[in-house]
Formats: sequence, C-alpha cells, structure tokens
Amino acid sequence: MSNQEAFTLAKKYIPGGVNSPVRSFNSVGGMPFFTRKAQDCYLYDIEGNEYIDYVCSWGANIVGHAHEEVLAHVQNAIYNGLSFGTPTELETKLAKTICDLMKNIEQVRLVSSGTEAVMSAIRLARGFTGRKYIIKFNGCYHGHSDSMLVSAGSGVATFYNPSSSGVTEESIIHTIILEYNDTDGLKETFNKLGDEIACVIFEPYAGNMNLVFPQMEFVKTMRDLCTKYKALLIYDEVMTGFRVALNGAQSLLGINPDITVLGKIVGGGMPLAAFGGSAEIMQHLSPIGSVYQAGTLSGNPIAVTCGLANLDIIQELGFYEHITEMSQLLISGLTELAKKHSIPFCASNVGGMFGIFFQEQLPNNLEQVKCTNQKHFNDFFHLMLASGVFFAPSMYEAGFICRKHGTGVINKTLESADIAFAKLRFE
Ligand SMILES: *Cc1c(COP(=O)(O)O)cnc(C)c1O
Repeated sequence: MSNQEAFTLAKKYIPGGVNSPVRSFNSVGGMPFFTRKAQDCYLYDIEGNEYIDYVCSWGANIVGHAHEEVLAHVQNAIYNGLSFGTPTELETKLAKTICDLMKNIEQVRLVSSGTEAVMSAIRLARGFTGRKYIIKFNGCYHGHSDSMLVSAGSGVATFYNPSSSGVTEESIIHTIILEYNDTDGLKETFNKLGDEIACVIFEPYAGNMNLVFPQMEFVKTMRDLCTKYKALLIYDEVMTGFRVALNGAQSLLGINPDITVLGKIVGGGMPLAAFGGSAEIMQHLSPIGSVYQAGTLSGNPIAVTCGLANLDIIQELGFYEHITEMSQLLISGLTELAKKHSIPFCASNVGGMFGIFFQEQLPNNLEQVKCTNQKHFNDFFHLMLASGVFFAPSMYEAGFICRKHGTGVINKTLESADIAFAKLRFE
C-alpha cells in the first residue's frame, strides 16, 4: 500500500486519519507518511523510504528507536503478564529512580499520559492550597484537559476563550493567561489575586511554540511570588525532563518548583507519565489524602520496565554531552547555510532539543514566534522531507536529537539543507 492509499483508508475510519492532530501535516500542507518501523535515528515508511528523524516520537525517544537493551527488557517483561492491578516492585524502582534524578521530587505518582499528569497535578495544587486560580502562559501546552485549553483573547486581557469547542466557559473561568516572559504581568496578577492563586504552571523551556527560552528574571520572580503568596509552582517538564539535561530543566535554571510533571522520555515510547514533589504535598493524594486520583493502567509493568531501561541508558557517561553537541552542530550548520543563501534565519538549542526560526531574532514569547516566515518554514519542511529528513511538521514545534544522531547524519542533513535553502532563495 502507498502512503496515499493508507491515508485514504485511515481517514475512512479515524477522524482526519490520525490519532493526534499534529501528525496530520495540516500546518505544513500535504499528507503524512505512514511509518512501518523505526531504528536508531531513522524512520522507514510503508513505501520503503528512509527518513532521518528529528521528531523522535515528539521527544519521547532519546536513546534511539528500537534500542536493543530496551527491547530485551520489554520482551522479558511481557512473559510475566501485561497488567496485574496490584502494586509491583518495579513501580517502586522507577519511583526511586525518578526521585534520585529529580532533586525536587521526594514522592511521585505514575500515570499514563502527560495530559493526565498535568490534570492531576493541578487538582493536587488546588486541593493542597484550597484555592481556585491557576496561571498559565500563552503558547505553553499542558495537555488537553479542559482547564488548560484556554487561549488569550485579543484586546482586553482579562477575557479568555476556550481554545476548543466543547470546553465550557465555566471550566476555564479560573485559568489566567499571561505572556511567556511577562514578569510585570506576573507581578500585577499576584498583586490583584495573590491569595486566590493555587499554582503557576510553566514550561521551563517552552517547547510547544517551537523553542522559547525563559528569562532568569521571569523565573526568579515567578518563584518569589509563589513563595510569598503560598501558591505552588509547577514545572511541566513533560518535554524538558531528561531532555535538556539528566536532572531536568530545573537543574539548569537552579530555581526549584514545588511540583514537577514528567512524561515522554520517562516512558521511553510507552504510555507513562508522572508527577511529583515534596512528601508534604504528595501526601494529599488519595488513598492517604483527600485529592482523588487513580488509574487502571497507572504504573503498568511493561511501560515501567521500558521507562526504567531508558533512564538507565541516559545515565551513561557522556550521554548529554553527545546530544548537546549534535544539536549544536545541527543548528550552527543550518544558521551558517541560511546566511550563505541570504535567508533570514536563527536557531537555538538546549541539550537535545532545538528550535529553528525563519526570522532574524530568537523569540521570547508566542507573538514573536509568529513572526517566523511560515511559507519559508513549510517549503523548507517539504524540501527536507523529499530528501529524507523529517523535521516536525509545524513551525510551532521543537526538534529533537537522540543518542544515535551522529556527525555523519548531521552532515547529511546539512547537505540537504544547503540545497533546500538555495531553492527557497529563488522562489
Ligand atoms: C506533550 C506534552 C504534554 C502532554 O502529554 P501527552 O502525553 O501528549 O498527554 C504536556 N505538557 C508538555 C510540556 C508536553 O510537551
């Protein structure tokens, strides 16, 4: 079957042919390829085409696809059964590993998706503080639970709209949206509502509006205000956890959250996510506390086995040096080539995560991300795809490097980019 035929068939039985919207290529146009298998830093589609993969399962893959050790552990685990509905020692082992790696987690609860982890973390923050309001930042994504599907309306900044139909105004009425890096907005909001704010939720490096860096002043102010007003600071590290550094974005920023949310890499390609914090906070969860939270498949033994195997590998010496070096090689190469072809371009990286922008200056918030030349991005995406390089199919997504990307692969990518930039210039 061709990709075209597979997509036509998929669309007959699955809305839009995909089980998560960004996979559809709606943003860049065209249609997705259907993956048959993945190995190391490559995807192979059902037509037999090979792609260098800079999406890496949206960041979940950091050790390389179909890693031999990971597969061996998972394979062994399945023979013991797929799900038990009782506690297992494996869960404690993973929880301990997470607590050892994440300085601000003393206790952690395992769940099955980032959406679920965020939703539960917010309920916990509200239950712990006895307050209603939550602050989030425009362009940060925290999964698709109702209270997080809010967009800042234009004009009067005190009115927000649900960003999805089906989300009631009542369910977003206590969500406040501010611009990323808007330190003054934070101060004003806490001044006005400080005693009613349960938590601030924040992507410590924003990876769902391409890649945006936090300003230190902004993060410091956020921490200080949360402490002063006894609101909880939640770092949504679903993307950045184990991605930007072994010990998370919090280790790079040196500013501590109260609750940390993890996903993606923690399950290494299996449905697994987590949220954790001090024992004092976490003890508010059921069955010992009054904040209800549960899951039939939470801490699933196969997912936990896969997560453990991944967290083992990322602790190998030089792991983060390698992915950081490869990210830097890629973005500095792209920047140089764009300059050679006089294409307005800039790029950045933190650990194994990078952003590319068809504009002169790195953005500080969503409005500035929108300044990127969308036509350039979309054309670049398709030219690269045609030459066997898969970047994220939207200018609002970050890119990812895994342990198996090496200099050969990066150089091959840059050769393709040289040709793509040349074509862009003469459009
Ligand atoms: C991916 C992501 C989520 C949602 O996780 P899912 O597993 O897709 O539900 C939440 N927050 C951030 C920062 C993410 O990148």
